[in-house]
Amino acid sequence: METILLLVSTETDGSLAVPAFEAAGAAASLAAALPGSQFLAGLVGATVQPGADQIAACGASRFLAVSGPDFESSRYVSDAAAAEALTREARATIVVAPATSRWNRCLPGVAQRVNGRVDTHVTGVSVTGGGIGVSRWYYRQRMEAVLQRATRPWFLLTDPGSQPPWQGTPGTATVHPLTVTLPPGGARTRVTGVKEPAADAQTIRPDAGLLFVAGAGWTKKQADGQTHVPEAEQLIREFLKLTRASLGSSKSLVDLGGEGQAVLSFLTHLNQVGQTGSTPRHPKGLSTCCHGEEPHTVGWRFIGERRAISLDPNCGWARGKADVLYVTDAFAVLRHANALLQKTNTFGLLVSPR
Ligand SMILES: Cc1cc2nc3c(=O)[nH]c(=O)nc-3n(C[C@H](O)[C@H](O)[C@H](O)COP(=O)(O)OP(=O)(O)OC[C@H]3O[C@@H](n4cnc5c(N)ncnc54)[C@H](O)[C@@H]3O)c2cc1C
Repeated sequence: METILLLVSTETDGSLAVPAFEAAGAAASLAAALPGSQFLAGLVGATVQPGADQIAACGASRFLAVSGPDFESSRYVSDAAAAEALTREARATIVVAPATSRWNRCLPGVAQRVNGRVDTHVTGVSVTGGGIGVSRWYYRQRMEAVLQRATRPWFLLTDPGSQPPWQGTPGTATVHPLTVTLPPGGARTRVTGVKEPAADAQTIRPDAGLLFVAGAGWTKKQADGQTHVPEAEQLIREFLKLTRASLGSSKSLVDLGGEGQAVLSFLTHLNQVGQTGSTPRHPKGLSTCCHGEEPHTVGWRFIGERRAISLDPNCGWARGKADVLYVTDAFAVLRHANALLQKTNTFGLLVSPR
């Protein structure tokens, strides 16, 4: 009989973020699919009651917590100590946690301490014939494998965006606090501040309903024999402002900057989608001025609905990489779309978050 522990950390205000709800969804579904299993929740953070209350109705029979100032921010020593204590107290055989940088960093070490095993980047958890199977992608999202393990405890880090978030009415959870004493020097590493771009300069938005991808075509000579990079920049900025879409890019476009060519000033390699870039998760994607080569589109594996705008009717998108391809001028489309967006909320579905 399995004992499932949902392991989540709270934000600075004590609440839970979306990846925690997704892990809660996976853990609750797993518990429901395994009759006779036990389901507990473990929370870590400066304060935990608000987060516990948010998931009070998720089905967990006990809410354990390690809280206090030492557990506010991500730090290997304190996070690992908290996770180990919660795992032992719960006598967990399965631990489900969101694959945030915080848990990705410490849970492999915790698995080692409790003589268990860990699987990262889990995108699915299923039960077949009484056995638990977890899905994971390999070789830059080209092959999917379903893994089973006999070793317990088994730690599963669920990739953000891969699981439906648990939804339910908040309640009042009775939280059982655990006391964890850090080893001498265990709180030495401190977070002294956070540096991040201003909200409107932040173009990577994992929670956005739409991924907008800019390709190298935006910087190429157009029908009049000229490049129009300033206009491209203005059109894309405007579109992002109006839709709150997340901005992706092809490799060619971000590489151009390194080669001294004119590029869009707000793009970095972090925006690159593809084999050597990222594999974002969004319900919809719109690719513009991009050819749709395999090393690029492999990064579109988890985009729900794919649309593309390219002048080339023989581009990769036309060969099965997109659901809809518009063979037309992306400059004209964005000019028109921005005008519509300014006037009405015609694209309401695109702009809404997940
Ligand atoms: C090992 C390896 C790893 C790679 N990894 C990645 C990766 O992670 N990500 C990635 O993106 N690439 C990757 N690549 C590169 C990839 O193969 C392509 O070279 C790259 O994606 C091409 O970028 P692009 O489509 O923006 O540019 P281009 O191939 O130059 O295409 C530009 C497109 O813009 C269109 N266009 C021009 N003007 C307009 C207009 N006004 N309106 C509409 N369309 C217009 C053109 O018709 C053309 O289709 C990798 C390659 C290798 C070998």
